[in-house]
Amino acid sequence: MHSDTSRESGEEPPSGQLLNQLKEFRTAGRGFWSNVSDSEWNDWHWQLKHRITTAEQLQRLMPTLAPEEYDGTKLANHKLALAITPYFFNLIDPADEYCPIRWQVIPRIEETDTASWEMTDPCGEDSHSPVPGLVHRYPDRVLFLVTDRCAAYCRYCTRSRLVSNASGYDFHPEFDRQIEYIRQNKAVRDVLLSGGDPLLFSDEKLEYLLSQLRAIPHVEFLRIGTRIPIFLPQRITPELCATLKKYHPLFVSIHSNHPRELTTEVRDALGRLADAGVPLGNQSVLLRHVNDDATVMKAHLQKLLMCRVKPYYIYQCDLIAGSAHLRASVRSGIQIMEKLRGHTTGYAVPTYVIDAPGGGGKVPVSPEYVLSRNADRVVIRNYEGKIFEYPEALDGTPLFKSPKEIEEPELV
Ligand code: SF4
Repeated sequence: MHSDTSRESGEEPPSGQLLNQLKEFRTAGRGFWSNVSDSEWNDWHWQLKHRITTAEQLQRLMPTLAPEEYDGTKLANHKLALAITPYFFNLIDPADEYCPIRWQVIPRIEETDTASWEMTDPCGEDSHSPVPGLVHRYPDRVLFLVTDRCAAYCRYCTRSRLVSNASGYDFHPEFDRQIEYIRQNKAVRDVLLSGGDPLLFSDEKLEYLLSQLRAIPHVEFLRIGTRIPIFLPQRITPELCATLKKYHPLFVSIHSNHPRELTTEVRDALGRLADAGVPLGNQSVLLRHVNDDATVMKAHLQKLLMCRVKPYYIYQCDLIAGSAHLRASVRSGIQIMEKLRGHTTGYAVPTYVIDAPGGGGKVPVSPEYVLSRNADRVVIRNYEGKIFEYPEALDGTPLFKSPKEIEEPELV
């Protein structure tokens, strides 16, 4: 268990120093489980079996539980269950109510406040589901939901209507029908396995699904969306990596939000996946008190590259019911993007998107870099605010006038 040095001293270090502190790799340690043997601690089944799932367990391990958290935890099992692996629990700072790890996995009573614009299915998945467990929204790709279980539950989960089954959704995927639907739809070239978390399956069960999908000639590309490397890095065993390696091209999208989640254990687990030839991307959700700060986000993205993971998306938090206390503003997201592009390695800069409420798909959101544009030229600004002109090529015609002869464009 550890906390940032800045918090301990009560002073904010300069941002360069804070960035470096946030990028340090540390182990999650053993915390309360110091008596557990190495073989048990490193066994993913042991971690799952010893998850914290009740208010009483949580209060015993963390007497600093706030009343809002205790009340939220009491109600969680009617909405989205509480579950935290011992490994991940060790990353929580019990002295900090706004600890970015705590904020993501410990329920709060604010989850019971629902605004009129919030939804149970903000991405409209259920209305695009031709077969139970399959979402077909875009012509060439499908979302293949495999389970409603996760190693731990994120309080802002887009699929909280179904994951953990706390609110009685009764999720029953039908693998044979899901696979047959893909077989019959030749336009589907990309299958994303998600849930819940597919890596909670045994190697054998996962291999059954991957082999069935790989046998479909028009499926070019397989993806797995998972938060297991973050919540339960012990699951990334050499045997799992050997299984995944057989089904390339297979990409894995992990989900991590804060640099403190990237421990030495996580770095090693991601290294095993990368060594198995699995290209790794990360999806983050922009969350209040977690990563709505440019220094924290930059440290996180740079640290992901050190773990051989390409930052892929930052999502604006979906309008999931009861998530207002977790949602950061779009304004803060754009400000963070402004402080990334040009200020750090391009590979570290993901695309910031809003999943259009109700099922409109991902819409990229970005600071404005094109200041004006007409048939002759584009006026742009760079990350330092300097303005440049780029002479526009006429369609199919080489540019024959020098930019100076071109009339002033109308500003838009
Ligand atoms: S791991 Fe993913 S599916 Fe599971 S609760 Fe978190 S966001 Fe939802």
